[in-house]
Amino acid sequence: METSCLFCRIVAGEIPATVVHRTETTIAFRDIDPKAPTHVLVIPTSHYADVIALAAEPSAAADVLAAAAAVAEQEGLGDGFRVIFNTGPHSGQEVFHVHAHVLGGAPLGPMLA
Ligand code: 5GP
Ligand code: ZN
Repeated sequence: METSCLFCRIVAGEIPATVVHRTETTIAFRDIDPKAPTHVLVIPTSHYADVIALAAEPSAAADVLAAAAAVAEQEGLGDGFRVIFNTGPHSGQEVFHVHAHVLGGAPLGPMLA
């Protein structure tokens, strides 16, 4: 755990979050500022700064994707959803503990206009 990391502190239970799904290696919780009717963040319980670091650990990456798929099913997103990993300054990444945004619950519109 990195004591200065917001999401490590959520994993540790030091900061409250609305947890919707857990596995041995992941937790998923509702985004505090949702950008869609369903907006859940899926994170590995271990600290990786971004998706590049996560990709270097294939089993951890697979666990995060499997949890994202499970969250989409649990949240009833059968009509479609989006999974986003913001990475680096051009993406606007603000929290440097990798997280998959799972967004859905309404038509999301084209992402690339
Ligand atoms: P990023 O821009 O790093 O990809 O996304 C960070 C996300 O974390 C944002 O969507 C933001 O609303 C969310 N967030 C920031 N602080 C908190 C928090 O304390 N709790 C929860 N549940 N979400 C947070
Ligand atoms: Zn962390």
